Amino acid sequence: MTTKLRKIFIFADMHTRIGQGYDVHALKEGLPMWLGGIRIDSPVGFVAHSDGDVAIHALCDAFLGALALGDIGHLFPDTSDEFLGIDSKILLRRVCDLVTEKGWSIANVDITIALQAPKLAPHISGMRQCLAAVMGVDTDCVSIKATTTEKLGFVGRGQGCEVWAVCLLEKD
Ligand code: MG
Repeated sequence: MTTKLRKIFIFADMHTRIGQGYDVHALKEGLPMWLGGIRIDSPVGFVAHSDGDVAIHALCDAFLGALALGDIGHLFPDTSDEFLGIDSKILLRRVCDLVTEKGWSIANVDITIALQAPKLAPHISGMRQCLAAVMGVDTDCVSIKATTTEKLGFVGRGQGCEVWAVCLLEKD
């Protein structure tokens, strides 16, 4: 058997799950901005029941989607005092524990953040390292991309932030 054919058979024998998540939070002056697990210096922050880390929320939904376990609002209701002002990294850790409990491991995640301001480029590396540490994976497995929307739509007007996340889970 050729090496290429062998690789195809190994892949076919491997189980994978894909998940995608999406979240939006409004911006308001005077609130702290937590994004991708880190505090970002900004005159505006996210309106939320939790710390408002919209990137982590989208990522949690990607994992929950891959596991077919509903969504973050179902798991951590915003009507519960338990989650009032909670550090979203705690929520991510709990979701990662579910991934492990179900026998899956994280292959990679890819996150796209749409935010008009502040510029996120100086913070991408810190976010990747932070989220990788929370998930217990190599930083290499965590991709975070940021874009503006060229001043179009609610993101472009500085009214909110939009995040898309995709994850791949695998098990032998
Ligand atoms: Mg949210």
